Amino acid sequence: MNMKLSRTLSTMLDDPRLFRQYAYVDGKWTHGDGGREEAVIDPATGEVIGHIPWLEADQIRAAVDAAEAAFVHWRALRADERCERLLAWYDLLQANREDLATIMTLEQGKPLPDARGEVEYGASFVRWFAEEGKRTFGETIPSHIPNAALGTIKEPVGIAALITPWNFPLAMITRKAAAAMAAGCPVIVKPAGETPFSALALAELAERAGIPAGIFNVVLGEPAEVSKILCAEDRVKALSFTGSTRVGRLLLEQSANTVKRVSLELGGNAPFIVGPDMDPKEAAFAAVAAKFQTAGQDCLAADRILVHESIHDEFVEHFAERMAALTVGNGLESEIDLGPLIHRQAVEKAAAIVDDALAKGATLVAGDQSLAPGENFFMPTLLTGVTHDMKIWHEESFAPVAGITAYANDDQVIEMANDTEYGLAAYIYTHDIRRIWKIMRALEFGMVSVNSVKMTGPPVPFGGVKHSGLGREGGITGIDEYLETKYYCLGALGSVSGS
Ligand code: NAD
Repeated sequence: MNMKLSRTLSTMLDDPRLFRQYAYVDGKWTHGDGGREEAVIDPATGEVIGHIPWLEADQIRAAVDAAEAAFVHWRALRADERCERLLAWYDLLQANREDLATIMTLEQGKPLPDARGEVEYGASFVRWFAEEGKRTFGETIPSHIPNAALGTIKEPVGIAALITPWNFPLAMITRKAAAAMAAGCPVIVKPAGETPFSALALAELAERAGIPAGIFNVVLGEPAEVSKILCAEDRVKALSFTGSTRVGRLLLEQSANTVKRVSLELGGNAPFIVGPDMDPKEAAFAAVAAKFQTAGQDCLAADRILVHESIHDEFVEHFAERMAALTVGNGLESEIDLGPLIHRQAVEKAAAIVDDALAKGATLVAGDQSLAPGENFFMPTLLTGVTHDMKIWHEESFAPVAGITAYANDDQVIEMANDTEYGLAAYIYTHDIRRIWKIMRALEFGMVSVNSVKMTGPPVPFGGVKHSGLGREGGITGIDEYLETKYYCLGALGSVSGS
């Protein structure tokens, strides 16, 4: 097997074989036939950490051929046999946590402790779905047809194409792939070009875990080109995408001709609602935690912080104080809270969003960009007096820019919170149970977290409404995205008792 290693990254790993600069198709490390390749950059330093090949159209189709061939055997395995392979993969993810975290920090920029956390989080989906695959029960249906037995069985949908973003380079893959593979489906993963090495390390560990060739494939290439081929392929039966609403719409359109199962986890624009009864310090500290994870590059980031007018000023003070304590720097260094943004365009977008808000009357409480430790860094920024006409209200900033708005009553804050095309997650901070119930029910969001920043994990259905997506990942329904329900009617059985 051919191997090409970047000296810098590979020397940082206990196991240099986890750093691969090839695509992975049909159990083989593959270079691009056309000789096209792309550099992968460490966003903290701007240095090249490695290169990936761009596959040609025929090579993407070869991945579909491989998945098609492998499907025959994989779907025929018993659920507990697939479970064992997936649990072996889980064990390897845990055993290689440190190396996986180092790879992630280098390509994505998030601080090492956050990267370790993502490896844990990503691995937890593998364990959950390994077990969940054993519970894809069908039903027995009381028959309305004489002498017949009726029921359903669940069958794997077929090849699943998984297209994933750069902000969670490992967990966004395992949350889909583990569900699909546990259901009996082969997967073709197209990771973001910014963060391919986490996906390729997953492939290396899948191979070691005994996942057969053709079941877990990683294709690399020009995003629009690769996606077009996968969407147009009739043999690809499910498409699961996590990323921006713009690209999600495009993929939904491109999948129409082949009538695929499409799951979309798209953008968010989370409101963070603080009731008048809250301790402003407790709520402000929670809001900082909900806003600045992954340097704000998180679909669950608290994008619109809505604070009752009676505690607004105190809340702002505590928020600013807590925010000032956040450290910004290279995620490989210790004691860093915020790493860089993914690239320079993200910094420019953040600056434009701040400028737009200031031009329309917002107040800059903190956020001195001259202190940024590098060109891809953006210092935590706090704006108050944010209003509906500003970009920050409607667009995901995907940056450490917090915007606070005061509100007067529950009805007003519900209207404000729902004033967005997105509907992924929302936060409510109040201890008033009647207020919680009223607001929670009225929010047009797929997930509502009350008095808790942490809300995700394997047992819960993750997903949004409105333009935030279709379908749910995780939880007991997450595996349904990869299963078909087959109804059977066994007729002419003679007298069937209880039919
Ligand atoms: P993106 O849409 O730009 O990219 C996502 C994936 O699509 C990548 O693999 C990319 O290479 C590919 N892609 C890009 N342009 C394409 C095109 N024209 N045709 C086909 N494929 C294309 O998103 P991103 O910038 O990588 O990620 C950030 C977005 O992801 C944010 O909107 C964020 O809210 C969202 N996100 C959502 C969730 C969720 O679970 N709902 C989780 C994480 C991120």
